[in-house]
Amino acid sequence: MVAPGGRQRWEFMLHAGEQASEMEKPERVRALLAPWCKPEDIRIERTAVYRFHAREARRFSKGRCFLVGDAAHVTPPFAGQGLVAGLRDTANLAWKIAGVVRGQLNEQVLASYDQERRPHARKIISLARFLGKLVMPRNRLVAFAIHGTIRAVRMLPAGRSVFDDLKIKPPQVFHRGLFWRDRTARKLLAGSMLPQCWIRTYEHSEPVLGDNALGLQWSLIGFGVDPAAHLDGKLLARWSCLGGMTWQWCQGGDARHLTPKERRLVPMDEIGLPRLPPEGWVAIVRPDRCVMAEGPSAKVDPMLQRALSMLEPMPSSGAQPEGSHRAMTSS
Ligand SMILES: Cc1cc2nc3c(=O)[nH]c(=O)nc-3n(C[C@H](O)[C@H](O)[C@H](O)COP(=O)(O)OP(=O)(O)OC[C@H]3O[C@@H](n4cnc5c(N)ncnc54)[C@H](O)[C@@H]3O)c2cc1C
Repeated sequence: MVAPGGRQRWEFMLHAGEQASEMEKPERVRALLAPWCKPEDIRIERTAVYRFHAREARRFSKGRCFLVGDAAHVTPPFAGQGLVAGLRDTANLAWKIAGVVRGQLNEQVLASYDQERRPHARKIISLARFLGKLVMPRNRLVAFAIHGTIRAVRMLPAGRSVFDDLKIKPPQVFHRGLFWRDRTARKLLAGSMLPQCWIRTYEHSEPVLGDNALGLQWSLIGFGVDPAAHLDGKLLARWSCLGGMTWQWCQGGDARHLTPKERRLVPMDEIGLPRLPPEGWVAIVRPDRCVMAEGPSAKVDPMLQRALSMLEPMPSSGAQPEGSHRAMTSS
């Protein structure tokens, strides 16, 4: 496996009877690599014998306890996604805990961590197991068949990108959790991540990536429209209490837009978002950049009401606000 800094990572399956202490010796490593490299070209940085597992906890959370990273799931290393999965866990969970601790979010929000993250972690483990079967054939005949097939698939551009760019990797699209999806096959799918692109904002002197432009807050984004123009002051105040921002996405430059400069997001390239919603569309984007809801700007008021009723803490009297909807919803 090609690694950064001109390094390479080589992996060899140990056979029965082979000892870790013996296999990690430099002369043994050089002998293993001899068919592919000149011994004088090799500088060994690290050797490690490891045993891998494919496991996940039955639940990622219980009461006030949450499991993230390898404590929640361990995957064979073949997809290179073990640490990444842990980072996804923390990106999903940290702002939820912070919001509850600050009293901005209700506790039910925390249940969405397990609902959202566990199915995706499982898919990544399944992918790693599958890739493990491809790279660890047990005999020459199977190796010939598998590697011949991969070679043939890689001759086609689409096939090449499946393996080289790991397009085979399941996207992080949630099926249940802290979002709702009215219809499927939208350009901007609720329960999936807002794609990244370079953006110009009033705050930053240089173009920044979408993650940095939006920061760690809630965002209400209007595509070609100012979402705040469709909302009354009371609702906007509730949104601000949550730390929510309102933005106008100005595709094709901001010359014709009237929103205050500090609330404009101007994508730098012509494409902007790969799946750009139509003008007049709005989206509620969570601090982890997952789209919570999307729809036409004419419906932004009920959309935001529904989102706030899912997020805001219960009134201390215990009375539920009118029209509120607390259940975690799904597609
Ligand atoms: C060979 C190999 C290759 C890999 N390649 C990749 C890759 O290419 N890409 C990728 O994304 N991932 C890869 N991974 C997986 C990645 O290394 C792990 O998923 C990641 O390190 C897990 O991070 P973690 O913080 O969840 O757990 P850990 O890294 O295990 O950290 C847990 C920490 O908690 C400490 N600890 C344990 N018990 C206690 C206690 N009671 N009190 C206090 N401290 C405690 C431990 O000492 C440890 O420091 C690979 C793993 C292996 C083995």
